[in-house]
Amino acid sequence: MEQKTFKPTDPHSFSQPQEARVKHLKWTSTIDFSTKIITAVASWTIESIEDADVIIFDIKDIKIAKVTLDDDQPTEFKIAERDSILGEALAVMIKPYTKTINISYTTSPGAEALQWLSPEQTAGKKFPFLFTQSQAILARSWVPCQDSPSVRFTYEADVTVPKDLLALMSASNPQQKNETGVYHFEMKQPVPSYLLALSVGDLQFQAISNRSGIYAEPSMLQKSVWEFADLEKMISGAEELYGPYQWDRYDVLVLPPSFPFGGMENPRLTFATPTVIAGDRSLTSLIAHELAHSWSGNLVTNATWNDFWLNEGFTVYFETRIMEKLYGKDHAEMLASLNLQDLHNEIKDLNEAGLHADTKLKLDLDDRNPDDGVTEVAYVKGYFFLRSIEEKYGKDKFDTFLKDYFYDNGFKSMNTEGFMTYIKEYYQKKFNIAFDDQLFQSWIFSEGVPENCPRPSSDRFKKVDVVIAGWNAEQNLDKSKAGDWTTQEWLHFLKNLPDTLSQQQMQSIDNFGKFTQSGNAEIISAWSVIAIRNNYQRMDPVIEAFLINTGRRKFLGPIYNELIKTEQGKQKAKVIYSKARSNYHFVATNTFDKLLN
Ligand SMILES: [Zn+2]
Repeated sequence: MEQKTFKPTDPHSFSQPQEARVKHLKWTSTIDFSTKIITAVASWTIESIEDADVIIFDIKDIKIAKVTLDDDQPTEFKIAERDSILGEALAVMIKPYTKTINISYTTSPGAEALQWLSPEQTAGKKFPFLFTQSQAILARSWVPCQDSPSVRFTYEADVTVPKDLLALMSASNPQQKNETGVYHFEMKQPVPSYLLALSVGDLQFQAISNRSGIYAEPSMLQKSVWEFADLEKMISGAEELYGPYQWDRYDVLVLPPSFPFGGMENPRLTFATPTVIAGDRSLTSLIAHELAHSWSGNLVTNATWNDFWLNEGFTVYFETRIMEKLYGKDHAEMLASLNLQDLHNEIKDLNEAGLHADTKLKLDLDDRNPDDGVTEVAYVKGYFFLRSIEEKYGKDKFDTFLKDYFYDNGFKSMNTEGFMTYIKEYYQKKFNIAFDDQLFQSWIFSEGVPENCPRPSSDRFKKVDVVIAGWNAEQNLDKSKAGDWTTQEWLHFLKNLPDTLSQQQMQSIDNFGKFTQSGNAEIISAWSVIAIRNNYQRMDPVIEAFLINTGRRKFLGPIYNELIKTEQGKQKAKVIYSKARSNYHFVATNTFDKLLN
């Protein structure tokens, strides 16, 4: 094979799309739960420059059986040495007139994107379950692809699953099981590979509006439909803010609790953790977030994972605006205020770990796992940067800008520098406002949070602060003052208690908020950290059960990190982890294996 040296465009993909790039995928697959293997053919329609003689795909732990061109013409292929983070480059020799590459392959039972659950790990306990998590660079472990967020393609799929299960993808979806166990999918809008998604399980559907609904295991369906009753209002609210929803349907799939994230914005079908089913609709900002990704991220996509803040900062901004529109300014300010406190804690942790550069918005993740960039910095510092522009030049102007930004750059990728050029030119042309480069310098290329960071202000939180002040002064907690507190106020209360508390104080606080009995995952998580820090043993069984039954990394991280601060806690953490590990997805075990070796 002729060796060529290309300048890599994306540090996390071997592909060279400027030479030969994928345009459409036809994926035919069979899902085998007994072997935990997917057997598939990926037929890629491609486009190449005139003298291209090779196309490169990313794969990881995939066994290639055969590669052919067009109508089954033989060709040569070569697999490069495995990189522990990036996997392998698959190079396929092509002819100038090659239109299609057909790759027959099997996945490995340990494929990093796939989580195979036993029936015991589901709500129904009767059927196995499979879901994927492709972001950031795990799609290559189940589909050979050009695994860069800058490469978009349309797709169709035919998926064969056991007859009593339903298959769903980030595409047009069936609403009920059929007798053949074969399901057909089409995704007509081009997406990057990290938005490829599949889930297979005992799932049912219920509509919320004519373009939205909920998929869940039967025993979770009613609760989920009730919790997300405002789904259609969120979609139309989002459209009023920043233009039409471009993906036809918007459905939500409620997964078993081992799902490692709060949600994943798979197009047309958000994957969501059941830990937001709080029974009081108090944690639905997660759905506003995933919905907002239909514009920021899925429509205008970060070009590389170093530009991840473009996906997440814009989405937190949009999410907060949806919440403001539906539930009022004060509610949105409570969310922003909780976020800001989390950001300050994250920056403190990153600095303590020596990762100062990771507190910049523009990241340098070359030779690192892009997952390292998933911190509050991309989300919340990104949000406050955009909010600072909104506050400085006016909300109306910023809304006009955002609407046009999504429209002009839809179905394209964007890097940080491209964003800077776009917003500068936009404000200059449209509003005759010149942006100061210092604004970008201080927010995007500097560490930490700038001095002039906007400060959210919530009246409801001010009332909580009065209760905390009363507690600090006189150890007195008046239950009548907390009668109408929502989850957010309880969280604000918990997160602003003194670090050290006596057993008696812990008992009084527990009596005040009934935290140990809470069914709300956010509250259990925050209270667990306080309980561990202050050796409040009444929480021990709750913490153990929570860690074993929940796979959401956001909750696991703070609890395990608090446990390992003492030698005794470390032993406890290791014992719990050994029981819990099989319930976690790779993106969680990849984090916690290092922590708990
Ligand atoms: Zn997000």
